Amino acid sequence: MSFLSDTLARVKPSPTVAVTQLARELKEQGRDIISLGAGEPDFDTPEPIKAAAIAAIKAGKTKYTAPDGIAELKAAICAKFARDNALTYTPAQISVSTGGKQVLYNALMATLNPGDEVVIPAPYWVSYPDMVRLGGGEPVIVEGERQLGYKITAEALEAAITPRTKWVIFNSPSNPTGAGYARDELKAITDVLMRHPHVWVMSDDMYEHLAYDGFQFVTPAQVEPGLYDRTLTVNGVSKAYAMTGWRIGYAGGPKILIDAMRKIQSQSTTNPSSISQWAAVEALNGDQGFLAERNAAFVARRDLVVSRLNGCAGVECAVPEGAFYVYPSIADCMGKTSEGGRRIETDEDFCTALLEEQGVAVVFGAAFGLSPNFRVSYAASEADLTAACDRIEAFCKGLR
Ligand code: GLU
Repeated sequence: MSFLSDTLARVKPSPTVAVTQLARELKEQGRDIISLGAGEPDFDTPEPIKAAAIAAIKAGKTKYTAPDGIAELKAAICAKFARDNALTYTPAQISVSTGGKQVLYNALMATLNPGDEVVIPAPYWVSYPDMVRLGGGEPVIVEGERQLGYKITAEALEAAITPRTKWVIFNSPSNPTGAGYARDELKAITDVLMRHPHVWVMSDDMYEHLAYDGFQFVTPAQVEPGLYDRTLTVNGVSKAYAMTGWRIGYAGGPKILIDAMRKIQSQSTTNPSSISQWAAVEALNGDQGFLAERNAAFVARRDLVVSRLNGCAGVECAVPEGAFYVYPSIADCMGKTSEGGRRIETDEDFCTALLEEQGVAVVFGAAFGLSPNFRVSYAASEADLTAACDRIEAFCKGLR
């Protein structure tokens, strides 16, 4: 009998976390590494948010809380959904967890039975398929169209839905492509879902506030109110408020699902950190003015990286609407050999050789289910981005 579970054998460790950790270790060993692997803003958490956390510690708000969130945070989340998304939720419809990751995990654990299918557009955030597998379900992948910035079509979604489909996971702006679905594009998707009343919608809106060039963010339950009763609208403070380490994610959805997620959480982590919850109250209720300032910096970085990557031999990169990622195609680099003598057959080969020979860490496309590509997180200083692009250019130039 094996000591480790059969379920464990169905999943792999998170590649985004692994690449980031590898880059960290190489740096600690003294190697000159530029890490564009982690999906994490380089900006600091704003001061008022830090101050709210320090005040919470001093006030002794350091004990267990209600399992799925303190009342003050649930109220702030309800206000946020009304303000930003025109969605009405009551506190009983809100769940707060240790990062968006735990929200998604709880929802899948609370609903999946063996053989249930979950439709996931590719390229996808690395953890969706493995979380589905951990819950005993089957990921069903729908590939995005390269000429649509890797967005999926309504027809492709329709073709993937079966009587066993329990969820569709939707993510816009997308990790890893940065592509955002405009209202009419999303409406075409929600029209399909309206024809399949047994399918629930998990909308991962983590990059909502990171949208550029006037892109108007919309979420499925807002575009199609007919989906409200079977949609979980997921968000968090990690990316917009530069609070990745604080681990606060949240969702609004039907009470039956929120109650089920609370049951799972009460048997695992009990509650998200009390201190982080008080910080999140300040994030959501406080002045939002800094978001626009930071977005201006992100746009400049995006434009820098896209134009530099398009100047690299064999690399083709679209301009995405949001998030802080680009997902260039490297189809024309396949089958070549690097200056260091490494044969490049896959995007993983490309990224390994790039790290070894030029000290640039990016995440290979196969991890996101669509190849050959790689993901650059441009949430880094312009100096680092410029140096990284110089190195990528040199690497590509050396391919024979
Ligand atoms: N979501 C971020 C990323 O894609 C953080 C790491 C992770 O949890 O995947 O890089």
